Formats: sequence, C-alpha cells, structure tokens
Amino acid sequence: MKNFETVKAIQKFITSEKSKGKSIGFVPTMGALHVGHLSLIEQARTKTDVVVCSIFVNPTQFDNQEDLTKYPRTIETDRQLLIDYQTDVLFLPTVQEIYPNGMEPTEEYDFGYLDQPMEGAFRKGHFAGMAQVVKRLLDIVQPDYLFMGQKDYQQQLIVGRLLELTGMDTALVTCPIVREEDGLAMSSRNVRLSAEERKKAATISATLRQAKADRGNYTLAQTQERAIECLNAVDGIRVVYFEIVDAKTLESLDNWEDAEQLIACTAVHLGSVRLIDNLFL
Ligand code: AMP
Repeated sequence: MKNFETVKAIQKFITSEKSKGKSIGFVPTMGALHVGHLSLIEQARTKTDVVVCSIFVNPTQFDNQEDLTKYPRTIETDRQLLIDYQTDVLFLPTVQEIYPNGMEPTEEYDFGYLDQPMEGAFRKGHFAGMAQVVKRLLDIVQPDYLFMGQKDYQQQLIVGRLLELTGMDTALVTCPIVREEDGLAMSSRNVRLSAEERKKAATISATLRQAKADRGNYTLAQTQERAIECLNAVDGIRVVYFEIVDAKTLESLDNWEDAEQLIACTAVHLGSVRLIDNLFL
C-alpha cells in the first residue's frame, strides 16, 4: 500500500495511474476503521482498479469541540487493516494540507431541503463542513467512483446532490449498513460506549425494526411515537430525533402512502456518545 500525506504526491500518483487507463475508487473516512468501513473498501476493490482510502478527521464538520477531541484515532491499526484489505493507497493529510488557506468555506452549496432536517437541524454547520471536505478531497483524488455508507443516509444524499451541482464526473455508490450481531450499526464512536451502554445500544436498531413492523398496524404518527417511547424507556438513552421521512426528499410525511419509499432515521445520545441509525421501511 502506498502512503501519501501531501496533495502533490497523491495527485502525481493518480495522474500516472489514470494515464494507464486505470479507474479510481475512493473511500473517504475519519479513521478508527471497522468492518463497516472495510465493506466499502471491498466494494471499491470489486468495482475499480485503484482503491484510495483517506483518513482525515475534518474539524469543520464538528459542531461540538468535545466530540472532535474525543474522536477515536487509531492510525497504526487502521493502516494494517487497509493493508489486509488490499487497499492501494492511504491518503493521510494534515489539516494544513487540506485547508492551506484556512478553514473558512469558500463556496456555499444550495442543497434545497436535504440539509435542513434531522442532522442538519441539530448539528449546525455540519453539512457545510462535510460538503467542504468532500469537495476538496474529490478535487484531489478525482475518482471515477465514490463509496459511501447508508449509515450516514442524509450525508450520502447530500453528496449525491453535491456531485450534481458541481457536475463532477464521479459516480456515487452507496453501500449497505454493516451491523454488529445484536443489530447495532457499526460506528467508530461505539468504542466510547461503556459495557452497559453497549448492551443498551441494541435498542436503537430494535426500535427501527419495530417501526418497520408497525407499518400496517399503526398510523405513521403512532409509529413514530411508539419508537420514541421505546427509546426513551431505556435509562441513559435520550432521543434527539426519530423521524419517518420520504427517502428521496427527507420531507416529513403524514401517511404511509405519501411517498414511494420511506425511511426511519434516528439520532440518540447514549451517555456522552451520539449515535445515528436508519432503516428503509
Ligand atoms: P466515517 O469514518 O464515520 O466518516 O465513515 C466513513 C464512511 O464509512 C461513510 O461513508 C460512512 O457512511 C461509512 N460507514 C460508517 N459506518 C458504516 C457501517 N456500519 N456500515 C457501512 N458503512 C459505514
């Protein structure tokens, strides 16, 4: 695996690979890699010739300083995992390398309603920071395919829009959520849960499955209420939101029939850790 820390070095390598007719697959991450991330690498390997993974904990997408400082960093383990999964390139830039002219965003994107609800409503500036770093990374890596997880459903929808708005020649591939045996969606933040919190965390996906089963037996509003009750019943869990929305537009719905495809999305605090998950209904 090749390791690059500078924009100049990775660009030189990618230009050379592209000139040989090779396709580039890109998996951007913030590190603390788990099987969820590695499933993206595997997807990229089956679809593209050169698999590039970036690890960059992007300061501009954190609305909470504590979350940023406590974000797990396990670079040596990550590097080994990437080698084991036959990743071709690890891009590990510094903040200075990504933002040589400072972290203030230079471009604003109009994502319509997509960045307004849910994560957008509760994490001010999060999606602007996410779009800023994704655009910068795409400009550097120039991939043919970009691999992202359904785990961050709203994020991948916004990135799809970003690709449309900027007219970039990159196709987005959204990969399914990889879960632990008890249903908990894998996340870098899971390591911050205590053993007791870790057990309680299974309620999040169980509640999403309950919502799916509720369809047909309850109204949409009742289903949402039952889900929030179910989560709040667990000592230590605080619901930030649990919403059933149109999977395309993220608009709230009154009835089950109001959209072709519906998705339930939730964010909770469990102790000091914020977790998100979702499920198509
Ligand atoms: P992160 O390092 O959390 O920014 O995640 C990097 C990429 O991995 C994003 O596209 C995530 O959606 C994806 N990802 C994170 N967790 C999972 C998971 N459990 N299953 C599949 N993809 C995931």
